[in-house]
Amino acid sequence: MKNKVVIITGGSRGIGRATAIEFGKLGAKVVIVYNSNDKKAKEVVEEIKKVGGNATCFKADVSKEENLKPIVDFAIKTYGKIDVLVNNAGIVFDREFENIKYDESLQILKTNMLAPLFLSKLVAQIMVKNGYGKIINVSSTSGMYDFNPGTADYAMSKIALQSLTKDLSMKYAPIINVNAVAPGWVNTDMNADLPKDFVESETAKYHMGRWAEPKEIADVIVYLASDKATYITGQIIVLDGGHC
Ligand code: NAP
Repeated sequence: MKNKVVIITGGSRGIGRATAIEFGKLGAKVVIVYNSNDKKAKEVVEEIKKVGGNATCFKADVSKEENLKPIVDFAIKTYGKIDVLVNNAGIVFDREFENIKYDESLQILKTNMLAPLFLSKLVAQIMVKNGYGKIINVSSTSGMYDFNPGTADYAMSKIALQSLTKDLSMKYAPIINVNAVAPGWVNTDMNADLPKDFVESETAKYHMGRWAEPKEIADVIVYLASDKATYITGQIIVLDGGHC
């Protein structure tokens, strides 16, 4: 990944943070896009610098269309090109189906689904000009076999991302490889407030007997972004530790 330029949305925490650090360790130049958590974003930049990498952070709410082009412009101005885009930023609201609110669903769909679509559209033009690119979308097992009516909007956004992955892989082959990872439960802030008995019952369904750590997802994202994955495109890589 030496000197490859990577944009990763949601790079300040969780899976995005772990992924940014792995890219940084391998010599990539990383643009960490985040929404509000300045302190956490700066910590990731410092951590990458400590391991000899090159990183910078950029604050942008990806749910707003007008914030997407500035991300691309910033990456080009700072590093001169874009080789890899990781569409990772995501949100969920966990409630009973009866309590789903239109505005919350809209926010989920804009962040998890429309941001990857329109950011990919912008970045792909640059990748095509350069004759090289990798796009990795962070989907989920939600909506694949993992159902919860209270997070139906989240699952819809994640399944849509799989569809986008396949469409973009067809459109941009052979120049851009477009793939997705679909993690099951991962130990991040997103799940920090789940009830203990729910966590235990979900864990019992996994062959591995535990949830993933963010680095275990990051390692696969980095592989898909690397030149060891030249013949993989349009794939959804499920990372759920084996599931009953
Ligand atoms: P997380 O720990 O909650 O971190 C979310 C990240 O996304 C943060 O960096 C946050 O920035 C950023 N973000 C949220 N909304 C944003 C917005 N509007 N604009 C820009 N950045 C935004 O989440 P995670 O668990 O690592 O999840 C990462 C991805 O993996 C998500 O797409 C999620 O759906 C997916 N996923 C997670 C799991 C899981 O079990 N954790 C399982 C399957 C898939 P701030 O720090 O500034 O808030």
